[in-house]
Amino acid sequence: MNKVNTLIIGSGAAGLAAAVRLHAQNVHDIAIFTEGLKMGTSINTGSDKQTYYKLGMYGTEGDSPCMMAKDLSAGGAVLGDLALVEASLSPLAFHHLVSLGVPFPHDVYGQYAGYKTDHDPKRRATSCGPYTSRDMCRALIDEVQRRGIHVEEHRLCHKLLTDKAGTRVIGAVFLDMETGKWKAVQAENVIFATGGPGGMYAASVYPKVHNGGIGIALEAGAKAYNLAESQFGLASIKFRWNVSGSYMQVLPRFVSTDQDGNDEREFLREYFATPAEMYDAIFLKGYQWPFSAGHVPGSSLIDIFTYIETVERGRRVWLDYRSDPADLEFNALNEETRTYLERSGAWESTPLKRLELMNAPAIELYRRYGIPLDKEMLEIAVCAQHNNGGLAGNLWWESINLKHLFPIGEVNGSHGVTRPGGSALNAGQVGAFRAAEFIAAKYQDDTVSVEEYAAVMAEEHAKRFVQLEKTAQLNWKEERLALQQRMSKAGAFVRSASEVEAALNEVYKQYDALSADGLGGLTPKELTETLRNLHLCYAQIYYLECILMQIDYIGSRGGSMVLADDGKPIHPLLAEKWKIQEEKKEMRDCVMVCGRGENGLPVIAWEKCRPVPECDGWFETIWKEFRTGDVYGTGEAK
Ligand SMILES: Cc1cc2nc3c(=O)[nH]c(=O)nc-3n(C[C@H](O)[C@H](O)[C@H](O)COP(=O)(O)OP(=O)(O)OC[C@H]3O[C@@H](n4cnc5c(N)ncnc54)[C@H](O)[C@@H]3O)c2cc1C
Repeated sequence: MNKVNTLIIGSGAAGLAAAVRLHAQNVHDIAIFTEGLKMGTSINTGSDKQTYYKLGMYGTEGDSPCMMAKDLSAGGAVLGDLALVEASLSPLAFHHLVSLGVPFPHDVYGQYAGYKTDHDPKRRATSCGPYTSRDMCRALIDEVQRRGIHVEEHRLCHKLLTDKAGTRVIGAVFLDMETGKWKAVQAENVIFATGGPGGMYAASVYPKVHNGGIGIALEAGAKAYNLAESQFGLASIKFRWNVSGSYMQVLPRFVSTDQDGNDEREFLREYFATPAEMYDAIFLKGYQWPFSAGHVPGSSLIDIFTYIETVERGRRVWLDYRSDPADLEFNALNEETRTYLERSGAWESTPLKRLELMNAPAIELYRRYGIPLDKEMLEIAVCAQHNNGGLAGNLWWESINLKHLFPIGEVNGSHGVTRPGGSALNAGQVGAFRAAEFIAAKYQDDTVSVEEYAAVMAEEHAKRFVQLEKTAQLNWKEERLALQQRMSKAGAFVRSASEVEAALNEVYKQYDALSADGLGGLTPKELTETLRNLHLCYAQIYYLECILMQIDYIGSRGGSMVLADDGKPIHPLLAEKWKIQEEKKEMRDCVMVCGRGENGLPVIAWEKCRPVPECDGWFETIWKEFRTGDVYGTGEAK
């Protein structure tokens, strides 16, 4: 396994799907190298109803790829042609999962009914329940095994190898996480499916085991789109899980305590005129779950009040499902809240009883992870959840500037400012299908000479030798904590130019220190974590530079708000600094592109969004292009 046609790095829902699809297209010279089949976000995460977004397929409601693409790009900063691909392939990718046994529900006629998710005007969302992405992974792993696809676990990718000119990838270097030995693999193509940048944040709902690997590709020179666009929301932190939907709609008590769990108080009360107003806001938070600058003032104030309590006042915040306060009056709630609870048949005497009626598995989930909601409170914070941006791909998910590299899944940045809930899982499957099809059609031949690969490897080997000769001085845990806390403070959902500038100052220094340190004398575990720190830190430079650019050029939008002296006050009871900088809306027509400049530092530019193509093709012409292979073109976006 030192040479393959296509190397798949990462085994989340996206990487696994790519391997299966390649194999189905008769590309058998492939291998998956991964930290582990049980690592990553897909197999370790979920939500109260984890959503998969696809074309509408139910009843009489009309839908089409073009309509769906328009909705995928409605939030702005999206390339319309990529959105059209995501929409067009969504039925194929979805039915592929169904055919592998993923239990998406259908009715007696075989119709896959859907529901409306956020930013979705139709009912395109579907779900297998709380563990949709885990169900997808399990079915895909079974298929990988049935097909006998080679998988190597405990492999940490540390470096993507590029040709001398830096225009294409030719392989990758891995650390065996158990033995501390190195292994290089030559590959004609690399499908890069390492997920979102979970390890970069202290407050995070990405699974603890998931760190992501985007820094490796950025270091190799791959360009990225929209890195500043991320999603944040309220989540439990002992066991990491979004507290969206019914967790809020049953109206838990929001409580804060000091660090030792004493001095309990219902901190939200200070911001609302009446208890009913407070509870209506909590209810709304349930289905306006991620923080949104557009909901300030509005339901996202709940995220801000929680942030102030945890980050500024240094207290801990909890949800208490065990009892209602005496002044919660059902009849005082607004009509929307009352109707919902009435229709759900869920007006009961405690939040827990209401949750039991509305979504009993939601209680069971926490019990399984050692948090009985009938006995204890649930600690929460506003956490990083998803990166809408990521590496930049073309119409076939090939990197726009580093050929033969295919970033797919969350590490690919095809989403813009907002995205319909569930479109991340769809985009991952679609990217896998596109990359596999293109590789099968165009990239099966060997085009890199053994000599060229050997020369690149020799250089790499020499560098590693120097690093290993030098004894490591830095403590990886302290370095990780510093970089995570910095990002949660400056690069999460509350941003300001001064905080980001200060963070940038620190991260450049940290990266220099990490790069200058040796790798000698480390255990395999320490080596693994030190290498992760290096690429997380490198990625953080890019993210923070993009965030600073976003503050300068755009202001508040999507999943983040910018504080500015000349901004608009957001709440009369908040301190002077809580003024929101308004958005420059015209920038929604642009995608932010970031890549490595000549001096190794990020260079940022803007690209006009391409519209969703209006297609009225002629069957015979399309058929001919398909037969002759012209459909693959040069792989460039049109
Ligand atoms: C709490 C939560 C709820 C969510 N809910 C939804 C939802 O309802 N709908 C939706 O569409 N999306 C949702 N998402 C987002 C979605 O789950 C992820 O975007 C998606 O699962 C990512 O899949 P992936 O295959 O790209 O990456 P992952 O599943 O994260 O897999 C990455 C793989 O790469 C490996 N890897 C990483 N770095 C390296 C390296 N250096 N070397 C080797 N291997 C490496 C990992 O071990 C793993 O195998 C949610 C996310 C969270 C955190």
